[in-house]
Amino acid sequence: MSWFVRKDKGIQTPTEMKREAPDGLWYQCPNCKKIMNTREHKLNAYTCVHCNYHEKIGSDAYFSLLFDENEFTELDANMQSADPLKFVDTKAYPDRVKATIAKTGLKDAVRTAYGPMNGLVVTAAVMDFNFIGGSMGSVVGEKIARAIDHAIENRTPFLMVSKSGGARMMEAGFSLMQMAKTSAKLALLDKAKLPYVSLLTDPTTGGVTASYAMLGDFNIAEPEALIGFAGPRVIRETIGKDLPKGFQSAEFVLEHGFLDFIVDRKDLKDKLVSLFRMLL
Ligand SMILES: [Zn+2]
Repeated sequence: MSWFVRKDKGIQTPTEMKREAPDGLWYQCPNCKKIMNTREHKLNAYTCVHCNYHEKIGSDAYFSLLFDENEFTELDANMQSADPLKFVDTKAYPDRVKATIAKTGLKDAVRTAYGPMNGLVVTAAVMDFNFIGGSMGSVVGEKIARAIDHAIENRTPFLMVSKSGGARMMEAGFSLMQMAKTSAKLALLDKAKLPYVSLLTDPTTGGVTASYAMLGDFNIAEPEALIGFAGPRVIRETIGKDLPKGFQSAEFVLEHGFLDFIVDRKDLKDKLVSLFRMLL
């Protein structure tokens, strides 16, 4: 039966070589396990038609859901990470970045762009979890800071879509500085009297929750998104107590006053735009 055994190990296809799944293929919901057409799933804003489970999606999908006719101009598209600390874990950091770029087709864990949403030009920054766990390093901080500058210069509202495991360990202190930098820029946006909405998606944790993700004029979230600073296991071990049911879900966080509302992804664009128009 040797012809069943894969002889070449580690065959990898770069994202740009992968073909988009043709219509007629099926998507199985990881939550209710029911099956639906991928096209139907996509038209439903990547939410399950049976149980409304919100599939995790990246910047590409958010841009196409939010910008009219998927028309937008990307900012700082080619900014890439340096290696200020000459950091090595199981791999040297530059090698890890290079491998992740090849695997995901992304340059770092956030993409920033501006374009029309229901006719209103909005500047948006959307994080990608696929890129080293959506970790916030210097590039993420710098791109967000510049996107805020762009919003101020062009007097547009600013939208942040967060999805992150926290600070990027390989940039250590440089990552932490991004919290201060982005927060200071958001203060300037506020001074310019421009609205900022922060959307927290599954998962938003660590330094991102401790900075820009919680600084919106409105902080909103997708249903059942995990939102927290430290993970539940760390907290349980620290306080030596069991945690309440649903701890760190968007619904729990809303009930405890940290969020303004939870938005179904299918209503996201309309709600955002009416919110921005109200605040402008
Ligand atoms: Zn489902």
